[in-house]
Amino acid sequence: MNGRIRYTFTGTVQGVGFRPNVYRTATSLGLAGFVCNAPGCVVVEIEGPPPAVADFLPNLTASLPPRAIVERVAEERLQPSGTPGFQIRESIDAGLPLVPIPPDTAPCAACLEEMLDPADRRFLYPFINCTDCGPRLTIVRSAPYDRCNTSMQCFPLCAECAREYADPCDRRFHAEPNACPVCGPHLRLLAADGKPCSTDNPLQAAMDAVAHGRILAVKSVGGFHLCVDAGQPEAVARLRRRKSREQKPLAVMVADVAEARKLARVSEAEARLLSSPERPIVLLRKRGPTRVSEAVAPGVPAIGIMLPAAPPHHLMLRCGFSALVMTSANQRDEPICIGNREALTRLAGIADLFLTHNRDILVRCDDSIAMVAGQDTSLLRRARGYVPRPISMAENLPAALGIGGHLKTTVCLVRDREAFMSPHIGDLETPEARDFLHTSIDLLQQITGIEPEVVGCDLHPDYYTARLARQRYGSACVPVQHHHAHIVSCMAENGVTGQDVLGIAMDGTGYGTDGRIWGGEFLLASERRFTRAGHLACFQLPGGDAAVREPWRIAVSLLRRAFEDAWPAQAAAIGLPVSTAAAPVLEQALQRGVNCPETSSAGRLFDGVAALLGLRHEVSFEGQAAMELEAAAGDARGECLPCRIIDGALPLQLDTAPLVRAIVERRRAGVDPGELAAAFHTTLARAAADMAARLSQKLRFSIVALSGGCFQNRLLLQRCRAALAGAGFTVICHQQVPTSDGGLALGQAVIAAATRKGEKTGD
Ligand code: ZN
Ligand code: ZN
Ligand code: FE
Repeated sequence: MNGRIRYTFTGTVQGVGFRPNVYRTATSLGLAGFVCNAPGCVVVEIEGPPPAVADFLPNLTASLPPRAIVERVAEERLQPSGTPGFQIRESIDAGLPLVPIPPDTAPCAACLEEMLDPADRRFLYPFINCTDCGPRLTIVRSAPYDRCNTSMQCFPLCAECAREYADPCDRRFHAEPNACPVCGPHLRLLAADGKPCSTDNPLQAAMDAVAHGRILAVKSVGGFHLCVDAGQPEAVARLRRRKSREQKPLAVMVADVAEARKLARVSEAEARLLSSPERPIVLLRKRGPTRVSEAVAPGVPAIGIMLPAAPPHHLMLRCGFSALVMTSANQRDEPICIGNREALTRLAGIADLFLTHNRDILVRCDDSIAMVAGQDTSLLRRARGYVPRPISMAENLPAALGIGGHLKTTVCLVRDREAFMSPHIGDLETPEARDFLHTSIDLLQQITGIEPEVVGCDLHPDYYTARLARQRYGSACVPVQHHHAHIVSCMAENGVTGQDVLGIAMDGTGYGTDGRIWGGEFLLASERRFTRAGHLACFQLPGGDAAVREPWRIAVSLLRRAFEDAWPAQAAAIGLPVSTAAAPVLEQALQRGVNCPETSSAGRLFDGVAALLGLRHEVSFEGQAAMELEAAAGDARGECLPCRIIDGALPLQLDTAPLVRAIVERRRAGVDPGELAAAFHTTLARAAADMAARLSQKLRFSIVALSGGCFQNRLLLQRCRAALAGAGFTVICHQQVPTSDGGLALGQAVIAAATRKGEKTGD
């Protein structure tokens, strides 16, 4: 007696070769039935003898295509129909968008092999792809994900490609971007004035120019890159000059893990991350002098390395380069370029040549940046390769938008049990970046079909995002405190809901409920509310924004709290750039509080301590001083120095004055700054755990959530986790979304949705 079962698969199951795989599995077992795409899922019905029916799911699961992620399987027993044969049916389109569209994927091994095979019809063809790999989100115009809704629409398939596309047993079955040299897109090389260069091998000609030190703009997956030979210091210097990017590290691309190992120390986990189909830039520990110019990542211990993310990258590296600088093609603070004409205009004066092509990029998607901390991956920037893969939520939520903060912005839509983050948008300092914010919201709504009922925005009244939210959504806006959003973002991606956690936010800047700048916060938080249970004791920022660029000013402020009016002598002793004439002026400003806002920011504390240790008095990009402080610590253990908790009514305060005194005294006694940098990290982690323990005597929680930009610092993250776990807490931190402001939108969306849900149920 035959059996029949209907399976409904949800997750990333469309556009990843899932249906052909079902077809192969079912036919190999001699089963009848069908498979088809439905809105948001794949439906399979199988019919046959019970043993074969029973083997189906295990066999299918064991042979899933690499990009498929099955999140849930629903199973239903049906009456056998007796219809023979197994079919791949047309999509069931109920008028709803089919979500999710898969992320862009680096070329798979099979495609690479074909590309390098002189006998293959796609030999050296830079647009080779298949059902398992190739561009996805970045070529999408609208949902559902079908060729006619992508920028491949204008390339009619040739007979051979059409055959592959239609054959369920071919590895290009329904590969929407399928193409070949006969019917597909082609490379072109343009001079700086936009005129085509006459060459029959644009890629080779472009790389010859790079070998001569030229700056090449390359159209990649989600935008243009600027490319120079990483081994030529003058070329790197010219790129920095033209891009006005003084010291911020540049990423490099190498052919494989073995090449990466020549430039950096690469653990097994890091090797896996480097070669993952998402192909992020991975931050690795630099080796001593290598063939890569020191100007690529000056003065920092890390180097960002990525392996080829698209077929042309492989071909470029094969032209005799061991490493290429590949940095996003943009002017400072502007989004990455995607259009051919756009690139020619916006990169005028930067690029000498343009290696472009005629397949349009429709969705801007920068490189993702990731690192391994302990055994876990953390994403510093979530974009190409990861977006728009949804993040699973622990409970059903009403439709909500999180509109982001101001720096490293992303937006996020949640509905039911899924959250969709946009690609990295960036800092909203320029009109171009703000336009990109608008497009990102529209795109995300379009491809997910989510109409938000409610919108979470930052509490800061002057943020562009907050103003936009008020204008566009009026009373549907829920203002969310910055660090509350950070903590809930961490809870959401870890599936923690419906309980209070202690959130430790160590962060740069966020607007507090008292109008002050917060950033070293201990919040008792749930999705609905939070209490400020503790914070770093406030210190002043002499000169306001100037203190962010000139951390020596923060060092002065810390010295003054620690040593009171004896500070000028201490400042002189440790070499801060404060003249005897300037000291009284600073003292006056600090005393009267003139342009000296108070803050509890952990990020600024890191800056100030880096200056106290003489590591850096001025910075050229945010986080530079903190990066150097982490680097200086190296592998040193560092003694635990004193720090004081000011107990009493909530919020408790963590007073760092004893720590500052201890650091300065040791520095004056000749202790190595690296030792002291390590001691600072150890002490701060110990103090955070002490604070959590003290708070747990007054408040009920067992989980501690770590979030905020400072946790991009691996040392701080690892020491905090260890100290808190040692004190008996369950510690959660970010893995799927950035711990920096790039993850804020998720928290905002979840808080807004939870608030809406509460209103509906009258809770
Ligand atoms: Zn492939
Ligand atoms: Zn073709
Ligand atoms: Fe933040």
